[in-house]
Amino acid sequence: MPIAYTKEQGTHEERRTFAIISHPDAGKTTLTEKLLLFGGAIREAGAVKGKKARRHATSDWMEIEKQRGISVTSTVLQFGYRNRRINILDTPGHEDFSEDTYRTLTAADSAVMLIDAAKGVEPQTIKLFEVCRMRGIPIFTFINKLDRQGKEPLALLEELEDVLGIRSCPMNWPIGMGQDFRGIYNRRDTRFERYTSRGEETSNIQADDIDSPVLRDALGPELHDQLKDEVMLLDIAGDPFDPELIAQGKLTPVFFGSAIANFGVETFLNEFIDLAPAPGVRQTDQGPVAPADKSFSGFVFKIQANMNPAHRDRVAFIRICSGKFERGISVNHVRTGKKVNLAQPQQFFGQGREIIEEAYPGDIIGIFDPGVFRIGDTICESGSFHFEKLPMFSPEHFARVSVKNTLKYKQFHKGIEQLSEEGAIQVFRQANRTEDLVLGAVGQLQFEVFEHRMKSEYGAEVELINLPYSFARWIETTQDVEKLSYDRYSNIIVKDKDERVVMLFPNEFSIRWLIDKNPGVVLHSTSFDM
Ligand code: GDP
Repeated sequence: MPIAYTKEQGTHEERRTFAIISHPDAGKTTLTEKLLLFGGAIREAGAVKGKKARRHATSDWMEIEKQRGISVTSTVLQFGYRNRRINILDTPGHEDFSEDTYRTLTAADSAVMLIDAAKGVEPQTIKLFEVCRMRGIPIFTFINKLDRQGKEPLALLEELEDVLGIRSCPMNWPIGMGQDFRGIYNRRDTRFERYTSRGEETSNIQADDIDSPVLRDALGPELHDQLKDEVMLLDIAGDPFDPELIAQGKLTPVFFGSAIANFGVETFLNEFIDLAPAPGVRQTDQGPVAPADKSFSGFVFKIQANMNPAHRDRVAFIRICSGKFERGISVNHVRTGKKVNLAQPQQFFGQGREIIEEAYPGDIIGIFDPGVFRIGDTICESGSFHFEKLPMFSPEHFARVSVKNTLKYKQFHKGIEQLSEEGAIQVFRQANRTEDLVLGAVGQLQFEVFEHRMKSEYGAEVELINLPYSFARWIETTQDVEKLSYDRYSNIIVKDKDERVVMLFPNEFSIRWLIDKNPGVVLHSTSFDM
């Protein structure tokens, strides 16, 4: 069924495109479901991406997700809420797939940072936060699981500042926690939302100000005094609400709640859609492109093969940056200089898919890809330009790969080529050993997914032998690399898919050794830095 747009949801100004960043188990799936419930996009929590849905997932490589209970793939969820059209970019939480997550963040205009109140800022959150900061996008914080005993709210704010270096501005403040959780006090509209145990309706108490007797009645003198003290402290010592600083990603508005109890989520959503930015101007090598520009443009941030075994196909996910997308539009594929007809646009909802007729800046569309697209490709209706490059990460794990049954050589090569274009794995060739290939990955688990997919999607069983390298460096030199002075026992020279020379090293010591022995040679940790 095509998505129906209401008139006021029909332009980029109404779009809010964001990703949720968090450490696994902070409650991202739960929060996403609750957000979708408010959008009326699903009727029942658990219908889209819950563990229940995962159990029914049919895609082969989702077996791995099921077995490990992690999310490997990313999907895009769109729903209408008030007069907005919201796109949630889902990202894999496991750190071995962080590369995928990083690329997905380039398609987002803002991020929601989800934090488990008991755990505070966790390692994966720190990494993802850094990427958001690099991009300068606004970050909204939701502190989750207030229905459980966690860290003190003030200590959590301090952690944001100490660990992430971001100032915070609590939009609401929790009263009690765990067994004693009473609710949240919204600072801007002096409204108290009473928390009752799971499933029951929450109630709102509108106070004129924090001293109001209705609040005192509702909370009792002790909790009311505590709330007054804490909020006064925030008023005096905390950062004031500043939309400008929020827009620059320098101040994060903080919300408290419990996703599982669906408490504080609606308040968060309402504030979020008011404060979060609409799609903005994006830079290209030919100058800025604004969403209001007439001519359609976008870039590929993800390629995914065989999303559904019933349709053995490959989908390129495109973030629209300007103009209006209409089905069948003909665009310039800038990297190859060819014209491409975007005939089969799809929008994704969980694992389902639907054909769309039109889409606007901020939207993500999936295009059936016969093998022309690569991650980072720009497409545009007129002109010829490139959006900013997508971040690449230096592989840290390496393995030699070969096909078990040589009769499957063709499938083997097709699989490797497609999976590397998808960005699932990086492929290197060793100069004098063309028959087998070296794979590079940012996380070890990528190899497991690779092995599984090669077998289930391409019918090629592979053998992987781990190699003792931990670093790849792209080499810039005017000399013949073979003539460089390097330790032939511990380093190897390979070439990437674009024939650039890369050396693999076991440790940082061996990198320094090479630099010392070969003045004038420049090393880069990704090909993008060259
Ligand atoms: P994800 O890994 O970030 O997607 O996390 P999930 O949404 O799968 O949640 C991880 C676990 O935390 C699950 O057992 C959830 O039921 C639980 N959880 C999520 N939100 C809350 C919450 O607000 N309170 C409590 N007590 N548990 C929660």
